[in-house]
Amino acid sequence: MKTIKVRCIKGFSGFFINLFALLFSGISWGHLAGWASAWNTIYIRKDKIGDTKLIAHELCHIHQMNTHGKFKFMLLYAIEQCKVGYRNNKYEVEARAARLQNFLGIYKVEGYL
Ligand SMILES: [Zn+2]
Repeated sequence: MKTIKVRCIKGFSGFFINLFALLFSGISWGHLAGWASAWNTIYIRKDKIGDTKLIAHELCHIHQMNTHGKFKFMLLYAIEQCKVGYRNNKYEVEARAARLQNFLGIYKVEGYL
């Protein structure tokens, strides 16, 4: 079973996560709630610790990466984003509907949950 780490957005990595969110998604500095990295780590904003809906959302993105392959998923996600935008992006729609229990049998989650 693959282990997924849940960490806070802070410090050195937090700087780059916020920069990435600002440049590629237009999310203002410090407002990104969560981010699923391609390295099996989920980063969440400190005030979102314990938000199981957010963890389920980001776990779904990890699962999408593992299902399609990381680079293929990023390409498919970007194409979808260009075609229909963030809100209607099918990967975001799927992630919004995700439930934590759907993934706990597939992944071991450690860290802030
Ligand atoms: Zn998402």
